[in-house]
Amino acid sequence: MPASVLSRKSSTSSAKTVKIGKPVYFFGGGRADGNESMKNLLGGKGANLAEMAGHPDLRLPVPPGFTITTEVCTYYWANKRSYPKGLRELVSDNLARVEKLTDKKFGDPRNPLLVSVRSGARKSMPGMMETILNVGLTEATIPGMVAQTKNERFVYDAYRRLIMMYSDVVMEKAAGITPAEDQGIRRQLERIMDEAKKREGVKLDTELTTKNLKELCSQFKAKVQEVLGKPFPDEPMEQLWGSVGAVFASWMGKRAVSYRRIEGIPEEWGTAVSVQSMVFGNMGDDSATGVGFTRNPGTGDSRFYGEFLVNAQGEDVVAGIRTPEPINEASRSDQSRNLKSLEQIMPQAYKELADIVKRLEKHYRDMLDIEFTIEKGRLYMLQCRVGKRNGPAAVKVALDMLKEKLITKEEAVMRVTPSQLDELLHPIVDPKAEATHKPMGKGLPAGPGGAKGQIVFTANDAVAWAKNGKKVILVREETNPEDVEGMRAAQAILTARGGMTSHAALVARGWGKCCVVGCGALEIDLHQKTLSVDGKTLKEGAWITLNGAKGLVYEGEMAMLDASESNKMLEDFLKVCDSIRRLKIRANADTPEDAARARKFGAEGIGLFRVEHMFYGKGSEQPLFKLRKMIVSKTEAERRAALDELFPHVKSDIKATLKAMAGFPVTIRTIDPPLHEFVPHEAEKLAELAKSLNISLDELEKRASGLRESNPMMGHRGVRLGITYPEVTEMQVRAIFEAAVELGKEGVKTLPEIMIPVVCVETELKNQYALIEKVYAEVCKAKGVKAIAHLVGTMIEIPRACIVADRLAESAQFFSFGTNDLTQMSFGFSRDDTGSFMGDYLKHEILPADPFQTIDQDGVGVLMRMGVERGRKTRKDIKIGICGEHGGEPASVEFCHGLGFSYVSCSPFRVPIATLAAAQSVVKEKPIKKK
Ligand code: PEP
Ligand code: MG
Repeated sequence: MPASVLSRKSSTSSAKTVKIGKPVYFFGGGRADGNESMKNLLGGKGANLAEMAGHPDLRLPVPPGFTITTEVCTYYWANKRSYPKGLRELVSDNLARVEKLTDKKFGDPRNPLLVSVRSGARKSMPGMMETILNVGLTEATIPGMVAQTKNERFVYDAYRRLIMMYSDVVMEKAAGITPAEDQGIRRQLERIMDEAKKREGVKLDTELTTKNLKELCSQFKAKVQEVLGKPFPDEPMEQLWGSVGAVFASWMGKRAVSYRRIEGIPEEWGTAVSVQSMVFGNMGDDSATGVGFTRNPGTGDSRFYGEFLVNAQGEDVVAGIRTPEPINEASRSDQSRNLKSLEQIMPQAYKELADIVKRLEKHYRDMLDIEFTIEKGRLYMLQCRVGKRNGPAAVKVALDMLKEKLITKEEAVMRVTPSQLDELLHPIVDPKAEATHKPMGKGLPAGPGGAKGQIVFTANDAVAWAKNGKKVILVREETNPEDVEGMRAAQAILTARGGMTSHAALVARGWGKCCVVGCGALEIDLHQKTLSVDGKTLKEGAWITLNGAKGLVYEGEMAMLDASESNKMLEDFLKVCDSIRRLKIRANADTPEDAARARKFGAEGIGLFRVEHMFYGKGSEQPLFKLRKMIVSKTEAERRAALDELFPHVKSDIKATLKAMAGFPVTIRTIDPPLHEFVPHEAEKLAELAKSLNISLDELEKRASGLRESNPMMGHRGVRLGITYPEVTEMQVRAIFEAAVELGKEGVKTLPEIMIPVVCVETELKNQYALIEKVYAEVCKAKGVKAIAHLVGTMIEIPRACIVADRLAESAQFFSFGTNDLTQMSFGFSRDDTGSFMGDYLKHEILPADPFQTIDQDGVGVLMRMGVERGRKTRKDIKIGICGEHGGEPASVEFCHGLGFSYVSCSPFRVPIATLAAAQSVVKEKPIKKK
């Protein structure tokens, strides 16, 4: 954009030079200076008005007007709320063009032009900024309007609306006046109007007579003078410039500023101002106003959908005072069952509108939302923009438009966001219900979807209540492996402590179960079985509702939406993604059932089978008991005996998982967690264990406390266990090889990948390799086979491992980034304890996002890049993947795609999301080819 003569340096010392190009863009009469691609300059609204009005394929009936650019907004704020030189003249010139096209004159007493003044940022900020309608209506122009419309009531109604909006937006808000609660000028005027209605014995605004409205206008003006100490301006140009300034001012309004912060919209963007000639949908029964979508935004149904009101202004449709009527049969709801449609009432205007809708969709090649007005039978288009839609609708619209050859497959995959896809996979809390409920607490969004249930405080209660047919939500300070049965039985899990990779979060996500963790405001009294938040106490059995996608906790039972029926659609959409993506998608699965589920979701292998997870949940009593025996063994002989008992369980689980994943790789990680997690706490279980080991309870307790560590996350875990107790590695590896040989004999193809965790020195890996080689040779010999297909590799989850990745790659045939631990150790944040401070870190923008949710590309990401580059230096084609929780998070998937990973691995329920993110990563690499 060339800098124009309008750029100037203000005379004030704090002023900044803001270079601006053409400051005003005209539209109307089949022409426009701007177009749809100029959203940054004209705002979404201005750009689309220009497109509709001026594009040769469209040239739609748009009331003429002009847009003052966002650059002027930036200038305005950089120069003590002043305008660039020459702007006033340009506005007058453009106004003259509007006057010519409408055959009306702004401020003319006989045939006055009225305009609307609206905001429009490049991204829609619904309800955040201001609009002023009917600008130009004054004592002098009122008689002219009455003569033109032959409708005095209509004119005074428009006038009282103008006084209300103008005094509120321009004279109060933009002037920086902050009235006391409920004392704003708009509220004061509304009260005067309510009194008038009461006095007249009427309920609706529309029942007030011309005389009533005339009186109201005088009362309003007197009140404005009294409250704001200034008269309501009676000069059209003063009204216009007051409105333009107020829209620019609203960019820095409290609401807009906080909305921008939440949505990450930069302040420099600014808002544009569109000034447009008014058309009226409230000029009688041949007038109407409405909103619509080119396709149904709730279902994706491809028919035009919308609602309207006869004899009304736009704000009446939104205000919900009257039940809107359906535009056509496809838009009819239960509520509007008996109402006449636009198609029935005004068939000609409807036909014209339906035709425009078709042309618009063909032109924009997307589903749009539109606003229109019919003034005395004549249709006008007031707005169009790409329409918001829910998950199922997004997928259906993308697939339909692909089928209709309106868009390419690359465009189709970009039309669905990962969170929209997520809506198809889980029940969610009805967004309508959420809009009217205030959450009682907020934690971290650890598990997907939404859930409601009665609260219980122990895993046993969760199981017992669920057995009695109750829907429960398990509320815990934090969870541990002993809670797993209860977690399974519950609809959802809520914890007061813990972060995104805490036990509760990992387990819940793996099951696709709704979960909120780290809700620090919860005070749990296990004894009383109550939870309190901010002085409010809920007893066991009370209902709560969780939004696991946002981490919100609501009191009571809220409506849910089950969006899971559309699986065929999901499958079709994922096929389109598959035809584009390069990354393979695997799942983190720990049981044969999870493996089977992962296959159903399209996983192409398992990227992480955590051996220790076999000991949680259903049917794990026996193996868990044996594992505990192994853990508290003191001598090698004791341990070997326990391992022998454990072996058949481990082998059979691994075998079943390999079978469920026949033909696909399965990465089996040797046992990793801090051992004390598995030591029982309950007296009964302790006694049983002591008995089976033939030792006293005292001795058992001594051994158990010997396992306790100050920093278990950095303690005796992972490869360190395998080095101290080689027989533990040997048992697992033997189970893997034997399972593979046996399945091979059954004709099942297996591709096990043995993975060693928490490695940071190449000698650790070499040590374990020697063991693996030894067992491999033994199994081959014993089973009479020459070879067993397999790979051996390592997790990269300690910063040092990234640094020495070249040396690790000497033995490792693959790397799998364990970004949970890598994040923990890079930041020095305990992954189980971030709940207590992460909220503040995000609130104060210390961090832009929770690094346990999305890869910290500036830190952890740099380490990953180093690991990849160094690993490839030694072994050019080393297979590289990720199995930390980030493997199912879209931005992290894109990052891994950029590093040239072979695969990402995530919980089964996130496989579709990762699939979409992988396809989108490919599309984003180059400019999209349009149809
Ligand atoms: C990791 O650290 O990223 C990982 C996958 O291992 P775990 O979560 O089991 O520590
Ligand atoms: Mg780890």
